[in-house]
Amino acid sequence: MSSATPITVAHGDGIGPEIMAACLSILQEAGARLDIETIEIGQAVYERGHDTGIEPSAWESLRRTRVFYKAPITTPQGGGFKSLNVTIRKTLGLFANVRPCASYAPYIETKHPNMDVIIVRENEEDLYAGIEHRQTPQVYQCLKLISEPGSRKIVRYAFEDAKRHGRKKVTCFTKDNIMKLTDGLFHKVFDEIAAEYPDIENEHWIVDIGAAKLADSPEAFDVIVMPNLYGDILSDVAAQIAGSVGLAGSSNIGANYAMFEAIHGSAPRRAGQNLANPSGLLHGGILMLLHLGQADIAQRIHNAWLKTIEDGIHTYDIYSEERSTQKVGTKEFAQAVIERLGQEPSTLKTVKYNISEPADLSKFDIGDTSKVKKDLVGFDAFICWTGSPDDLAAKLDGVQTGSLKLQAITNRGVQVWPGGHPETFCSDHWRCRFVGQNTIPHTDIIQVLSNIADAGLDFIKTENLCKFDGKPAYSGA
Ligand code: NAD
Repeated sequence: MSSATPITVAHGDGIGPEIMAACLSILQEAGARLDIETIEIGQAVYERGHDTGIEPSAWESLRRTRVFYKAPITTPQGGGFKSLNVTIRKTLGLFANVRPCASYAPYIETKHPNMDVIIVRENEEDLYAGIEHRQTPQVYQCLKLISEPGSRKIVRYAFEDAKRHGRKKVTCFTKDNIMKLTDGLFHKVFDEIAAEYPDIENEHWIVDIGAAKLADSPEAFDVIVMPNLYGDILSDVAAQIAGSVGLAGSSNIGANYAMFEAIHGSAPRRAGQNLANPSGLLHGGILMLLHLGQADIAQRIHNAWLKTIEDGIHTYDIYSEERSTQKVGTKEFAQAVIERLGQEPSTLKTVKYNISEPADLSKFDIGDTSKVKKDLVGFDAFICWTGSPDDLAAKLDGVQTGSLKLQAITNRGVQVWPGGHPETFCSDHWRCRFVGQNTIPHTDIIQVLSNIADAGLDFIKTENLCKFDGKPAYSGA
């Protein structure tokens, strides 16, 4: 038997302390080999003036143990507070958010009795970079950033996780019919990496119809990998249609650190009443034990939990007259699981974790872009202005230089000059595209911008137009 593994535990806010106490008692009784360090996070820490909800000293524990078992916290209302989860994910490089969502019919009500899906969500990029600007009186912008290393890491992780858990299929959701460059990159990386796993089926769905299919027939999916925003939304949908958001756990995984939690929040209205369901956090704990190589204990707990559910011992959130035998509180539910350690369910599928060690994420191939040839061929000047497209084009006529000519003007992505339709609504946010015959130096852009300013126009930002290995890499008008 291996020695105890150090982990950091936070008891959180609201129902957090009750469900964490319940889970730790189950883990301990099951024989989990853990050496626990406790830190404080959440509301009290925010109120002491730490705007991220975590004290500097707590990071020392996380750096030491590298494994965080976290109860939900209450995020204070109002400005000035930063999300603790986002801070932890970004600081510790937790790029993968993994949420298994299974149904437990007929013991827990669900419209989807055969559902067993793992959602793998990219955790660091996409619109969650948090780069937003109000650019004009009318228009606000949020930047969507998708990187090749980020896409490679998450897609590789999804296939490795599928392989480790004996899953048969990995599906990718993107919206690359519209976002051809950003989501297009994610899809391309998915196709490339999928080819390395011939034993695992792969498929791609456009996220809108994929989401509809997931909500209607989740049993058609096995593992689904997605960029951050789609994953954020659809992992909640998946958990809810499986039966309850109170049941699902999640892991947040990086090359050096990992965090495990329930997907739900601190449910403050239920706090301190011994009511809350500890199952979501317990599932987070099971994922943690698998991560720590304690699959034997994870399996023991998971099967005891299934048996408890099957015996109809339910907390208020999943209790029903016809399906349950006993309505219990948090502590009694934990005790019922402990009493069933060593037992297996008879109707629900017994869990068998014959799984290998997790893949070494630090060795993931993140692609080599060092030899890509990048040429500057023009730029888009974004201008804050009110008037007609033809008037703007006339004003811009004089700002062109020998090397950079005005090619097109668009408004919210629709070309309004040359050509254009009188019906198109135009905001005060104009993209004016200047292109050269050949590659251009940056100083040519500066000259045009200087001319734009001299013409009394308010440029609000620029985007360079580049060719990569000779291919244009920007959206058309
Ligand atoms: P919530 O998940 O706390 O509660 C939503 C609903 O689900 C409530 O009706 C609640 O009673 C019920 N519920 C949730 N967990 C339950 C459980 N284990 N057992 C029984 N019922 C349960 O979401 P909310 O009310 O939107 O948020 C409350 C607080 O939690 C907010 O401050 C929010 O910011 C925070 N939050 C924290 C995390 C986190 O720490 N990871 C995640 C989500 C929300």
